[in-house]
Amino acid sequence: MKKSFIALFGLFCITFSSAQNDVKIDGRLKPHLDKFFEYCKQYDIEYHDKLFKLKNIDIVDTLTISQKGSTLGMLTRDKNNKVENIVINWIVLLDQEILKVVAFHEFAHYFLEYKKHICHDCGQIMAVVNSSYFDIIKDWDHQVKTLFVDSPAYKKQKNLFLP
Ligand SMILES: [Zn+2]
Repeated sequence: MKKSFIALFGLFCITFSSAQNDVKIDGRLKPHLDKFFEYCKQYDIEYHDKLFKLKNIDIVDTLTISQKGSTLGMLTRDKNNKVENIVINWIVLLDQEILKVVAFHEFAHYFLEYKKHICHDCGQIMAVVNSSYFDIIKDWDHQVKTLFVDSPAYKKQKNLFLP
């Protein structure tokens, strides 16, 4: 009796851990993702279910790089328009601070449900482009607070608790 219980429990653990492994997360993005999730907890934003709907959070060498403008990161979708992957351009790895901003930008598109950018170039994380990543980094705590508090996901979550 005892033995079969242990066996069953063992099986459960394996199934659970293989489900956790479904999302492939690049190790270089993992610290930023962990940090981002800490903020999600702080602002009561659900991220667990969303995370396990993804296939990859990855660094890739397939995004455009050109003098006129590079794609530093993007969400890719499946046939049904569901977000499947969050991908970041490998070129961003050249600067750890830019990596942090770009990673938060892409994570926010998905987890904080920013469908649009807030401006073209206004010195905020959700701008289309940023002429100065340095300014954002200097003002990081405030930038992150604005990113979360102004997000569609945060506003949606707040409305649920209105009387
Ligand atoms: Zn964007």
